[in-house]
Amino acid sequence: MSRRWDVVIVGAGIHGAGIAQAAAAAGHTALVLEQNAIAAGSSSRSSKLIHGGLRYLESGQLRLVRESLHERKLLLRLAPELVHLQKFFIPVYRQTRRRPWQLRTGLSLYALLAGLDASAHFGTLPRRQWAQLDGLATQDLQQVFWYHDGQTDDALLTAAVMRSAQSLGAELALPAQCLGATLGADAVRVRYRHEGAEQECEAGVFVNAAGAWARALAQCIEPRPAVPALELVQGSHLVYEGPPQAGVYYVESPRDSWWARPRCASAATRPPSPPAHTRCTTCRRCCAITFRAFATPRSRSRSRVSPACGCCRQALGTPFTARAKRC
Ligand SMILES: Cc1cc2nc3c(=O)[nH]c(=O)nc-3n(C[C@H](O)[C@H](O)[C@H](O)COP(=O)(O)OP(=O)(O)OC[C@H]3O[C@@H](n4cnc5c(N)ncnc54)[C@H](O)[C@@H]3O)c2cc1C
Repeated sequence: MSRRWDVVIVGAGIHGAGIAQAAAAAGHTALVLEQNAIAAGSSSRSSKLIHGGLRYLESGQLRLVRESLHERKLLLRLAPELVHLQKFFIPVYRQTRRRPWQLRTGLSLYALLAGLDASAHFGTLPRRQWAQLDGLATQDLQQVFWYHDGQTDDALLTAAVMRSAQSLGAELALPAQCLGATLGADAVRVRYRHEGAEQECEAGVFVNAAGAWARALAQCIEPRPAVPALELVQGSHLVYEGPPQAGVYYVESPRDSWWARPRCASAATRPPSPPAHTRCTTCRRCCAITFRAFATPRSRSRSRVSPACGCCRQALGTPFTARAKRC
């Protein structure tokens, strides 16, 4: 007879690991099926920020921002070895669309939603200190704002959450590819390939945490569940060989929204289908435009589009609009 679990979760990314941790902590038996490796998908290829979502203020998502800032605070307290505060700079040039008053308003609201504690402080950098900004282009530069957000190593964070789930009793089958599931009246029959053989188990609850593969997995579930309109968004990272020292530069891209990272610039496009995590096929031109905005000639010549940094994520909605989505 096949084993029965309270919860079977497909995917050992940050969501699968988090769900397993929560389920195990609540006393449920949980099995995680992962076809590749822990954090093999987007969860090791993100921009590595634990951010409150400053740019979501523009689309009025106040609840999301407040919740994200609360989670940021929790992670800073609970996992200081994995999450730390990082200084961000927002340079405002004559041609920057967001004007200083808009940024000041946004940062004030961000600070308010963060609870006005030390992590919420922000300000402008005096002109005499601009020279310390890693060679930031200063022509037409009008103001530089600074504030803080959280940074992490996403793969280590996911592995830590998975370890915590296992220490609470969750089990991980790896590599184990989920082949399909059949929803019954009081159990879900789950088929998966593990240790060279096809196996089956039963679950009270079946969780599809397969990230960019969630839609493909949903097609292997009988009867076919209703799947919300999902769209894949692919990001690429342009990696500096010599990372900036002063902090993270959050610059405005002429193409979509805000992108900048401590070691890389990011760009988002539609990915090929099915999603490929190992190749970076996305818009080099957009990366290059973003990068040129603030890179020094020296670091420009030492940058490259990283093939290891391409990744996909699911976004709700139909039209491709990178700026309205969470990342
Ligand atoms: C460019 C970019 C930058 C981002 N930056 C940030 C950021 O700075 N901060 C932030 O919080 N978020 C960021 N995100 C979003 C974040 O990376 C994702 O929300 C998150 O990693 C998704 O995790 P997941 O567990 O849902 O998916 P994944 O990490 O992709 O995990 C899904 C797992 O499911 C497994 N799987 C799939 N199908 C099967 C199957 N049939 N059987 C078994 N296993 C299967 C895969 O192997 C994979 O390991 C970014 C996203 C992108 C694209």
